[in-house]
Amino acid sequence: MTETASVAPEPEAVGELYDRLLEAELEGGAFDPNLHIGYWEDPESDLPRAEAVVRFTDQHVDRLGVGPGARVLDLGCGVGGPALRAVERTGAHLTGVSISAGQVAHANRLVADAGLAGLAEFRHGNAMALPFDDESFDAVMAIESLIHMPDREQVLSEVRRVLKPGGRLVLTELSERAPRPAVRHPAVEEFCRVSMLTLADPDAYVPMLHRAGLRLRLFLDITDHTVQRNFRDLAKQIGDVDGLLFHPRDLVGVHEVGCFLAVADRP
Ligand code: SAH
Repeated sequence: MTETASVAPEPEAVGELYDRLLEAELEGGAFDPNLHIGYWEDPESDLPRAEAVVRFTDQHVDRLGVGPGARVLDLGCGVGGPALRAVERTGAHLTGVSISAGQVAHANRLVADAGLAGLAEFRHGNAMALPFDDESFDAVMAIESLIHMPDREQVLSEVRRVLKPGGRLVLTELSERAPRPAVRHPAVEEFCRVSMLTLADPDAYVPMLHRAGLRLRLFLDITDHTVQRNFRDLAKQIGDVDGLLFHPRDLVGVHEVGCFLAVADRP
């Protein structure tokens, strides 16, 4: 077993979920170009969440091993914040793919507004069957996106296919944590259900990467730099708003969700 939530997410439904979330954000005037958690070197520091979120992106970007002229795929690209950061930081050309058509349209506008249209582009597509030729990328980053994909091994095989030999994958996952409870905390169950995600199984991950034809270089548990501090800050930021998918305060103090970063190469 590599996924333990009861229902595997359906890509189209995930796309619709993100379309709806984007519309709600735009209506509420709270648009954020990054859709992932933060990274705090020291989780007790006073680093604001907005900065920690960019540092989380950099945990990926700085491990891609690319420079100007390289071609990078951002798999599950959201609304483009991380891809733009990667362009700025490396000079590489970024291609983003998302199952949400709304996100893709928005990300393309963002990139045009930033005057970077030649350096990044975004396409609608499904990671389970990527709309790209074999060996078209030097690197792939996947920031908290495989959590939504119904068959991780299939996605990793697709990543291998589109990577050039020697190319690199950097990803993060939300994951289960040891010791695994006999019965999951209801807040975790609810978080997975409404967010249409499954937690990755760290024990099964490395063999899965290898079955997909990738070679592991680094597997890093970054739970202590990310999850609980993120939920705490997010809960404070959100306050008592109603109508959310779930409230992050429900996960504060529930230590069943982890986060890891993995780096793998296509041999
Ligand atoms: N990496 C971005 C977005 C994370 S949210 C960021 O860090 O800001 C998860 C992203 O994965 C969304 O963009 C969603 O549309 C995308 N996604 C989920 N399932 C997908 C699939 N099957 N194919 C392509 N993209 C998918």
